[in-house]
Amino acid sequence: MRITIASGKGGTGKTMVATSMALSLAWLTPDKPPLFLDCDVEAPNAHLFLHPSVTEQQEVGLLIPLVDEAKCTHCGKCAEVCQYHAIAVLGQKTLVFPQLCHGCGSCTMLCPEAAISEVPDRMGVIERGPAAGGITFAHGILDVGEPMAVPVIRQLKKWVQPQPDQVVLCDAPPGTSCPVVETVRGSDYVLLVTEPTPFGLHDLNLAIQVASELDIPAGVIINRVNGPYQALDEFCARQNIPVLLRIPFERAIAEGVAQGKMLVEIHPEYTIHFRHVFSEIASVLLQQSIRKDQSN
Ligand code: SF4
Ligand code: SF4
Repeated sequence: MRITIASGKGGTGKTMVATSMALSLAWLTPDKPPLFLDCDVEAPNAHLFLHPSVTEQQEVGLLIPLVDEAKCTHCGKCAEVCQYHAIAVLGQKTLVFPQLCHGCGSCTMLCPEAAISEVPDRMGVIERGPAAGGITFAHGILDVGEPMAVPVIRQLKKWVQPQPDQVVLCDAPPGTSCPVVETVRGSDYVLLVTEPTPFGLHDLNLAIQVASELDIPAGVIINRVNGPYQALDEFCARQNIPVLLRIPFERAIAEGVAQGKMLVEIHPEYTIHFRHVFSEIASVLLQQSIRKDQSN
């Protein structure tokens, strides 16, 4: 079972939820602790809570074109085929812009003079190792200044495969853009962490649209609850999205998290709450699979 923990915006407590849920499951099933993937490769921070010992590391990059000016006739075919404008012919010069290149290889394939070869271009690194509670931990780190997170996330998900029946928890980047879609893709369930404010509601709406477009069931955890916020509850009811947990706005939680403590360390009773959330998700997925079997 693969669950992605996402949020429409940053700072909602998504990583706090993801790490505490992982540790709750690890304590529940010590013989098969979950696999945790921190896919927020632009600002990974789950390691600050789960304290993994990194045992393996791999560089991630793309193959980008290198033009041999001695062979190039400046015909412009490579620039025509590149939909990302990552290669351009300016007079007697053919220029490559590595930061725009998606490594698709089309220009190399179509160059009539075989003037293009491909060279690796590093974008970041992926790391893995055991973490707190026996959790299998892995994360990606995008190099500073690199604009494309998706290849690093894709490689991270490919590199670390779960064991049979191992639960996978993916901590998604904030927002609703391509890196989020890449993280959510292939998930069985999306757990959306939000806060009871108009901004939280606005961004939750966008995040729900991503889950719905990918046809993945979703549930909500509301963090920093400080009194009722009817609009959010009404929205979830209208969308038929269950609210699985409410975490109060509390100084002790904020201070503890700022010191690198997990929610289940600050308030151990949350272990029960997160196991309950997990059971709810498992039950939804079981019902979904029964319905699919019946319709086949
Ligand atoms: S397609 Fe090949 S020959 Fe034509 S401009 Fe590009 S690199 Fe040069
Ligand atoms: S590899 Fe693809 S994206 Fe990169 S320059 Fe060539 S055509 Fe453009």
